[in-house]
Amino acid sequence: MLDDLTGKIALVTGASRGIGRAVALALAQAGADVAVNYLVREAQALDTVKTIERLGRRAITVRADVSRAAEVAGMVEVIEANLGQVDILVNNAGIVSHQPLAEITEEDWDRMLAVNLKSAFLLTQRVLPGMRARGWGRIINISSVAAQTGGVTGPHYAASKAGLLGLTHSYARHLFTAGITVNAIAPALIETDMVVDLKAGPELIPVGRFGAPDEVAAVAVLLARNGYITGQTINVNGGWYMS
Ligand code: NAP
Repeated sequence: MLDDLTGKIALVTGASRGIGRAVALALAQAGADVAVNYLVREAQALDTVKTIERLGRRAITVRADVSRAAEVAGMVEVIEANLGQVDILVNNAGIVSHQPLAEITEEDWDRMLAVNLKSAFLLTQRVLPGMRARGWGRIINISSVAAQTGGVTGPHYAASKAGLLGLTHSYARHLFTAGITVNAIAPALIETDMVVDLKAGPELIPVGRFGAPDEVAAVAVLLARNGYITGQTINVNGGWYMS
């Protein structure tokens, strides 16, 4: 009953490193060809592509700031010309900020919401017509435990990640009968560059350790292969928040 991902085209945003890289590799291992989006770390994105090619799948790097509509449109055009239409969209690119509460500015708020939340709207709107036409699609939004507990960073980060859950629910509802599932993954805390500056250690996590990017990636593959899970948030958080 599980869908075969062989030959499906995946776009993973922020796949030069961290969770996005692990998701890109796991989807390739499951048979997908992958567009590897990044913002500035071209060499790391190229390394993700080379690793995917060694798995026998096609891959390209695509630089774009996912918070900008024109760059999103340009990126998807490049993917369609080089790999094909996007079947699996993983909205993973994100930023965090560890500023003191009183120092968060309107500009910080706008940038956080644009990169972490608006990007998912822009990308989903852009790839949906193709998914609808083919009657198959998977959209996976990388949220955070911060959406559920407030987390350990700022309100702008928590709000952006909670916004992703509302966006997930709405798209899932609109797409029930279109063959397109829309789900969120809410991780915490995963050992990547993002948690390096965090003033919190593994003692915060009930299981006593940070998670590994592969532990999130495995859930993304599960969601990509399963057509009966939609509108859900899958928690990968070491027991920090239970639902
Ligand atoms: P990371 O190691 O800091 O990697 C961030 C990725 O996003 C990089 O590939 C980066 O590209 C890309 N990126 C940043 N801004 C971008 C933009 N405007 N346009 C395109 N790409 C952009 O982060 P991570 O820990 O893997 O986190 C991935 C996702 O999981 C994020 O949404 C994060 O909020 C979420 N998350 C992480 C944790 C955790 O504990 N790590 C927990 C919960 C949720 P460059 O390499 O080119 O800079």
